[in-house]
Amino acid sequence: MSASVAGVLSSVERILLDEVAIRQRVVEMAGRIRNDFAGRELTVVALMDGALFFVADLLRDVTLPVKLHTLSVSSYHGGTSSTGRVEMARTLPFDLRGRDVLLIDDILDTGLTLGTMQERILAECQPVSLRTAVLLSKQRPREREVAVDYIGFEIADEFVVGYGMDYQGHYRNLPCIGILNPANLPVS
Ligand code: 5GP
Ligand code: MG
Ligand code: MG
Repeated sequence: MSASVAGVLSSVERILLDEVAIRQRVVEMAGRIRNDFAGRELTVVALMDGALFFVADLLRDVTLPVKLHTLSVSSYHGGTSSTGRVEMARTLPFDLRGRDVLLIDDILDTGLTLGTMQERILAECQPVSLRTAVLLSKQRPREREVAVDYIGFEIADEFVVGYGMDYQGHYRNLPCIGILNPANLPVS
């Protein structure tokens, strides 16, 4: 391991999911999605920035025709817990009418982000179908109940980083998913 990666990892107290476990599960999820959508074109709405790495890996394994849209959404605003406010574009910047849509996010926590997105897509976009995939689902009471079709891993209610997930923009490029060491956080 290079010195710079070791430096970043010193901020990670514990590795929850290593690169191999993530890879295996993403391949399994892609296989299920490929079967479920066989013969159709999949229209993906990927929520940024957290789902960036997950979506990149998952979609390369799905091997179906895919039309990809991204949407910037934020609810954490730099902290380690949801503010309860979901910020996103007033007008959804894509046309999903008549499409089989797969909504993808990194992690299901309070449920506010995915709940809001599902509701908006169904109310505003007239898709033929809407399914949802997340890599992680936190075991905690939801502020909003959300139906999710594909879940990678159920995890405890802890703040995680890596594989696309950040703390104030840091750690997205970690190949594993881990828990931060509170004594060793980046200053800005
Ligand atoms: P929800 O709206 O379900 O509370 O949270 C969804 C969003 O919050 C996710 O898209 C993700 O960006 C962020 N989030 C929730 N839990 C975590 C976490 O443990 N770590 C990081 N880095 N982001 C999280
Ligand atoms: Mg997010
Ligand atoms: Mg974030």
